[in-house]
Amino acid sequence: MTADATGTALWPITLNPSTNPASPERRAEILADPGFGRYFTDNMVRAKWTEEAGWHDAELVPYGPLMLDPATNFVHYGQSIFEGLKAYRHADGSIVTFRPHMNAGRFKRSARRLAMAELPDELFVGSIEALVRQDHAWVPEGSEKSLYLRPFMFSTEVGLGVRPGNAYEYMLIASPAGAYFPRGVKPVNVWLSDDYVRAADGGTGEAKCAGNYAASLIAQAEASAHGCDQVVWLDAVERRWIEEMGGMNLYFVMGSGDGARLVTPSLTGTLLPGITRDSLLTIAADLGIRANEERISVDDWRDGCANGDITEVFACGTAAVITPVGQAKSRNGSWQVGSGESGPVTMRLRQALLDIQTGEAHDKHAWLHPIVSA
Ligand SMILES: *Cc1c(COP(=O)(O)O)cnc(C)c1O
Repeated sequence: MTADATGTALWPITLNPSTNPASPERRAEILADPGFGRYFTDNMVRAKWTEEAGWHDAELVPYGPLMLDPATNFVHYGQSIFEGLKAYRHADGSIVTFRPHMNAGRFKRSARRLAMAELPDELFVGSIEALVRQDHAWVPEGSEKSLYLRPFMFSTEVGLGVRPGNAYEYMLIASPAGAYFPRGVKPVNVWLSDDYVRAADGGTGEAKCAGNYAASLIAQAEASAHGCDQVVWLDAVERRWIEEMGGMNLYFVMGSGDGARLVTPSLTGTLLPGITRDSLLTIAADLGIRANEERISVDDWRDGCANGDITEVFACGTAAVITPVGQAKSRNGSWQVGSGESGPVTMRLRQALLDIQTGEAHDKHAWLHPIVSA
């Protein structure tokens, strides 16, 4: 076994890369304006699991379609989980990822919740290292650009019996990503959903599973119908406690200046424990901003905005990093957050996190995982 830069053993991956990669001209054209999730690199990684053999056949192969039996179990019953993280190219040309062992751990917890085989960290991180090394030319230059990495796993057992699959496939694909806000950070308007819930106690809210997203789409459509960009999820029992925004965690800024304080909804078991959320708790402490995990209600939000206690609200996640929330709307009225524009605490935290990821600031918590050296 080889090891990564931190000495962790990596799973051996057989390299059978594409013999027909995109031309440098075509790649440059794509990297100039990659958008999000539209283009994929030349290769991908796959590995198989069976009861008899465990994880095996870990291989880097050309990116290409899957052939599936129509009775493949996950298509019918949804044993399907995923992760999302990014590789960044620093100014010196080196390439890093951000806290990949956190994603590896969450991927295992998602698998456990869906009664799937757990992927070893060495294979999760090993697959990322292999693909990023092979397709390093696809990691864009420029701040806020990155290579988005999408690990995922699904049951490949063939048959319509409802039971945990006896075979799984793990895959990793990569997609160059442009700046989320190419024309500057712009606040989103949110719809507080009363009709639909994302997760209930004992359900799959903590797991990054495909089904959670399928179940969320109707609420997202309802948000659009009300002129909003995103849906905010409330707790399933009282429809009172704020949980998340779409596929991102939420933060509330109380007060301003030196007295500013952050509150993010506690991880009650129905929220997805975001790695961006976790990182911001630490970055806030670094910046001397008090940050607490607390329950926060719809009334707290509305009244806090009315009396000025709440000055800023933002959402956070790997894809967009930090997105300010400008307006909130519900069946019982709508209100503006602060000035309705991106606030100073939001933008300061956003820059602090981006500076670590892009190598502009000292990585004092050793969050960066080097893959390709300068
Ligand atoms: C992935 C995800 C997040 C954000 O997690 P990060 O690790 O910060 O990217 C938040 N909420 C949901 C529902 C998610 O799926």
